[in-house]
Amino acid sequence: MSGLYVPTQGELNALKYWKSNYFDSVWKGVGKDDRMGYIKRLISDLNAEGRGTQYRWTNGSEYSYLHTHEGNAPVISVDAGNPSIISALHELGHHLFGSDELDACRYAIGLFKAGFPRAFEKLQWKGHLLVRAE
Ligand SMILES: [Zn+2]
Repeated sequence: MSGLYVPTQGELNALKYWKSNYFDSVWKGVGKDDRMGYIKRLISDLNAEGRGTQYRWTNGSEYSYLHTHEGNAPVISVDAGNPSIISALHELGHHLFGSDELDACRYAIGLFKAGFPRAFEKLQWKGHLLVRAE
């Protein structure tokens, strides 16, 4: 992968559906647990569009991805206190494209930019991750 990831039509449709049903409507009125639930739904839909294999979720203190080990399904760990769409997309990028950091970043940024152009403008780099400006 070189340059930003270009989402497929199926991925764009999934983003658009999620945005109008969650992000543009109920998102502002709910707490962190519900937001994380919505994010997991988006990731699941995008994983299906990307023909990704199964994975498990764990709630931890940071976002990370654990590859398949000794027959166990890979694990996407989320920071339960910090629901972040772009961080979750980054970990899905690892699930779909492997351990390369640039590939995961290109995937996450490509999808986020396509789905959330206004929020994208407000992001800033923090290490290798794009996060919301403080
Ligand atoms: Zn990464």
